[in-house]
Amino acid sequence: MFRATIFTLYPDFFPGPLGQSLSGDGLARGLWALETRQIRDHGLGRHKSVDDTPAGGGPGMVIRADVLAASLDAGLGADDARPRLLMSPRGRPLTQSRVRELAHGPGVAIVCGRFEGVDERAIEARGLEEVSIGDYVLSGGELAAMVLLDACVRLIPGVMGKLESGSDESFESGLLEYPHYTRPRDFEGRNIPDVLLSGDHAKIAAWRREQALAITKARRPDLLKRP
Ligand code: SAM
Repeated sequence: MFRATIFTLYPDFFPGPLGQSLSGDGLARGLWALETRQIRDHGLGRHKSVDDTPAGGGPGMVIRADVLAASLDAGLGADDARPRLLMSPRGRPLTQSRVRELAHGPGVAIVCGRFEGVDERAIEARGLEEVSIGDYVLSGGELAAMVLLDACVRLIPGVMGKLESGSDESFESGLLEYPHYTRPRDFEGRNIPDVLLSGDHAKIAAWRREQALAITKARRPDLLKRP
């Protein structure tokens, strides 16, 4: 079963939106499991302090390597083979192919950063793989972890119904998805394209591919250049 263990200073964020809809149903049905670990449980002193000022100066605070490592060591067994991810704007951008790989594995351990981030030595010493969800900066890794988990969990067998199967979706074929239509046939003078009402499945498939290609060319030409 896909198991997610989240290391965070804000465990109450979870399951949050992951407790709803497809991922929430999957969680309730035992198709995946979610556990949170409070990093502060391994904090130092009376105040359970987890952070300190950056060496070399500068703004903000940094999560201490010893505190984070202690939390990871207590939360993950030595034989735990799950990828250890650190949500980070500096990380490799998350892609659908990485999501698919993760979804088909045993699960993930995810560290959610806060403040200025995490002491580099904890990243190195505990082999954390930095993952970014986009070129912008969030205030913490929790929402980023939820994005990653939502994308993974919907691919776990049984979570999505057959009707919602993801094989046609954006990125799965290297293209963005074609446009969708449903009833009514005429909406404010805009009609469903005739080909979709023709019943000719080969023509429909060709039209959708053409549309997907045109949309990808216009919006994300970079996708067409990917190997
Ligand atoms: N000082 C960091 C930098 O400039 O790269 C930003 C730290 S950010 C305020 C705090 C935490 O939010 C990060 O440690 C990370 O866990 C999370 N975070 C922010 N933006 C993210 C993104 N685009 N993808 C993944 N995680 C992100």
